[in-house]
Amino acid sequence: MIGHHLTTSGAHFAFTDRWGGVSAVPYEELNLGGAVGDAPEAVRANRGRAAAALGLDPARVVWMNQVHGAGVAVVDGPWEDGGPVPAVDALVTTRRGLALAVLTADCVPVLLADPVAGVVAAAHAGRPGMVAGVVPAAVAAMTGLGAEPGRITARTGPAVCGRCYEVPEAMRAEVAAAEPDAWAETSWGTPAVDVAAGVRAQLARLGVTDVEDAGVCTLESGDHYSYRRDRTTGRLAGYVWLDR
Ligand SMILES: [Zn+2]
Repeated sequence: MIGHHLTTSGAHFAFTDRWGGVSAVPYEELNLGGAVGDAPEAVRANRGRAAAALGLDPARVVWMNQVHGAGVAVVDGPWEDGGPVPAVDALVTTRRGLALAVLTADCVPVLLADPVAGVVAAAHAGRPGMVAGVVPAAVAAMTGLGAEPGRITARTGPAVCGRCYEVPEAMRAEVAAAEPDAWAETSWGTPAVDVAAGVRAQLARLGVTDVEDAGVCTLESGDHYSYRRDRTTGRLAGYVWLDR
């Protein structure tokens, strides 16, 4: 099933959970990731189902080849059929009705929209991407196209929470040196990282204050895919687009 929110200004934000698709165990059911070992025809069917549920043409949904970096691509249409898909972790468009999609299973999916300027972005912020600044890079690309941070609506989707994302002490120190708000501790008292908190701090610093989180921890929720919990598993998707 898919949570879909339409703002009064015409921006659509949607996040999937794992139910309502055709994929078999261990990808059951609505796996939207094409590079996780699931049957390609199942992924295609699931992407079709999700698009239909959102009132989108599946051919007008743009996916990316995510690499845990801070690269941004500005797009004005789908990639050429069978052509290369750029290795980036954020997409930006000014094309109304064109949906941008981000795949995750614990990482933070970040959806951004300035409906007044007519600019939207989708970003994949895992720990490395958050530290590398993929979200500020996406906001910079948006402002370059006329967006204003104070007008941007940001939504972050289901992701592993700071009480569950255990890391070695040295890694927490490294992440916190880059983004102090990401410092966290697990519910059992060991070093952890809160990627979503890091993203929120980055957005606040840029003047993006309309930020809401889905409030779901993927590792704790049986309705969501979690790479840290299951290793071989599917991918959730976040979608953002503007009304035509
Ligand atoms: Zn959690």
